Amino acid sequence: MPRTLPTTDDLRTRARAALDRVGVTLDEGAGGGGTEREVCHARTPLTGERLFPVPAATPADVEEAVADAHRAFLDWRSTPAPRRGELVRRLGELLREHQEDLADLVTVEAGKIRSEALGEVQEMIDICDFAVGLSRQLYGRTIASERPGHRLTETWHPLGVVGVVSAFNFPCAVWSWNTAVALACGDTVVWKPSELTPLISLACARLLERAAEDVGAPDGVHRLVIGDRAVGEQLVDDSRVALVSATGSTRMGREVGPRVAARFGRTLLELGGNNAAVVAPSADLDLAVQGIVFAAAGTAGQRCTTLRRLIVHRDIADTLVARLTAAYAKLPVGDPFDEATLVGPLISTGALDRMQEAVARAQAEGGKVLAGGGRRFADIAPDAAYVEPVIVRVGAQTGVVREETFAPVLYVMTYETLAEAIALHNDVPQGLSSSIFTRDQAEAELFLSAEGSDCGIANVNIGTSGAEIGGAFGGEKETGGGRESGSDAWRAYMRSATNTVNYSGRLALAQNVSFL
Ligand code: NAD
Repeated sequence: MPRTLPTTDDLRTRARAALDRVGVTLDEGAGGGGTEREVCHARTPLTGERLFPVPAATPADVEEAVADAHRAFLDWRSTPAPRRGELVRRLGELLREHQEDLADLVTVEAGKIRSEALGEVQEMIDICDFAVGLSRQLYGRTIASERPGHRLTETWHPLGVVGVVSAFNFPCAVWSWNTAVALACGDTVVWKPSELTPLISLACARLLERAAEDVGAPDGVHRLVIGDRAVGEQLVDDSRVALVSATGSTRMGREVGPRVAARFGRTLLELGGNNAAVVAPSADLDLAVQGIVFAAAGTAGQRCTTLRRLIVHRDIADTLVARLTAAYAKLPVGDPFDEATLVGPLISTGALDRMQEAVARAQAEGGKVLAGGGRRFADIAPDAAYVEPVIVRVGAQTGVVREETFAPVLYVMTYETLAEAIALHNDVPQGLSSSIFTRDQAEAELFLSAEGSDCGIANVNIGTSGAEIGGAFGGEKETGGGRESGSDAWRAYMRSATNTVNYSGRLALAQNVSFL
C-alpha cells in the first residue's frame, strides 16, 4: 500500500518539465498584484496545494478570442475538408509524441492514476484518427424526388464558432472530442476549460497551435480562454458562437441551456450521470466483480459514467456484496503516480465533504455502510482528499440515491423480477450510462430494447464506464441529450441544407400545385 505522497515542489517540477517539452512558457509574473478574477491558480489534488498562477481571460480577451475564431471560420469553412483533416492529423501526431507529458499534467491536475491518464490522452489520439477519416466523408443523402428531372439532396456545411466548455474530470479528452470533430467539420473553436485544470489546457492549446503552424492553417482556428464560469457565460451569450458544447454538472446545463436557447443558438449538453448496473442471477460473477469495481471505484468515482447504483438479484446479493467488499478492502488508495495505486485523490476537500454528506444522508435514509469511507493521508496532506471508496446497502432508491454525488459511493439495492430492476434503473432523473451482467440472452436483449434502459449508453457484461470513441457518447433526461465523439455525432457541428436541382427544362411544382 503506497504510504507517501509527492511534494508540491516535486509536482511543480514535473508539470513545468512537461509544459516545457510541449512548448508552453508560463507567465511567471502572473498574479503579482493581480486580483483573484484575473488569475486562475493551477493546483494539484495530490497535495491540495497551488502550483502556479495562470493569467485568466478578461472580458476583452474573450471578445477578441471569439472575434479571431469567427474571422478564421470565414476562411476555414471554404478549406476543403480533407485539407482540414491534415490539421487534425498533425495534432494527432503531436499528441502521440507528447502522450507522456500530457498524461503527467492530467495526473498532476486531475489526480488520475497513470494508466487512466495515459488512457485519456489515448482517447485524444483516437478521436483525431477518427476525425481525419471523417474529413473525407461528411456525407449527405440523395433523396428520391417526386418530380421528373429533379435531384433532391442534403448537403452538410460548417456551422461556425464552437464554444467548448469542459469539466475538470476529463480535462483534455472532452476538448479533443469536440475540437477534432469541429475542425474537420470546418468550424473553429473557443475553449473554456475547467478553472481547475488550466495547465493541461495550455498544453493542448499549444500543441494545436503548433499543428496549425506546421500545416499552414489560419491563425484563429482555435482560441483558449482560461477562467471561471463568468468566462463561460460570456461565450454562452455571444451570438457569434453558433454551438455551445458544454460538459459538466446538470446545474451548469440548466443555466447554459436556456441562455443559449434565448438567442436561438445550439447547445450540445453532456451533463451529470447516475449510472446503474443490473446483476442477474446468471451473471458471471468473476467478470461482474471486475467490471463493477473498475466502474465504481476507478477514477475515484469521478467519471460522468461512474457506476453509482448496483441493482442485484436478491438470490445473489449477499454473495456479490461479500466479494465486492473484499475487493474494496484491498484497493490501493494513494499517489496516482505510483504504479500500484488504483484510486487517486478526489479533486478537492469540498468534494470529500459532499461525499461524506451523501453517505450520512444515505445512512439517515436507512442505508448501511458495508465498506470504505476512511480518509487517508490527512496527516501529511490536510488539503488533499484521499478516501476509500464506499459501498452502501440501501433498502430503497431514496432521495440521495437518485442524485449524482461525484465521488466513489456505490449504492446497492436488490430486485426480484427483471421488470422491477429496469423500473428501478430508469427511475432517476439522469440517463447517461447503464449495464447488465447476465448470461441470459433474452434478459440482455430486453435491457437493450425500447422497454429497457433509458440511457444513451447501454452495455452487456461490461461496466458503465470506459466508452470507446467510435460510438456516439451522451445521455438522456438531465444528462442533456447531447451526443459527441463517434458515429454521426459530427452532424451537431454542421448545418444541413436541402437542395433541389431541376434539370428537366420545365417548372414542375411539388404536390402537383399549378400556378401561372
Ligand atoms: P461544473 O458544472 O462545475 O463545471 C463544468 C464547466 O462549466 C467548468 O468549465 C465551469 O467553469 C463551467 N460553468 C459552470 N457554470 C457555468 C455557467 N453558468 N455558464 C458557463 N459555464 C459554466 O462541473 P465539474 O465539477 O467541472 O465536472 C463534474 C460534472 O461534470 C459531473 O456532474 C459530471 O457528471 C459531469 N460530466 C459529464 C460528462 C458527460 O459527458 N456527460 C463528462 C464529464 C463530466
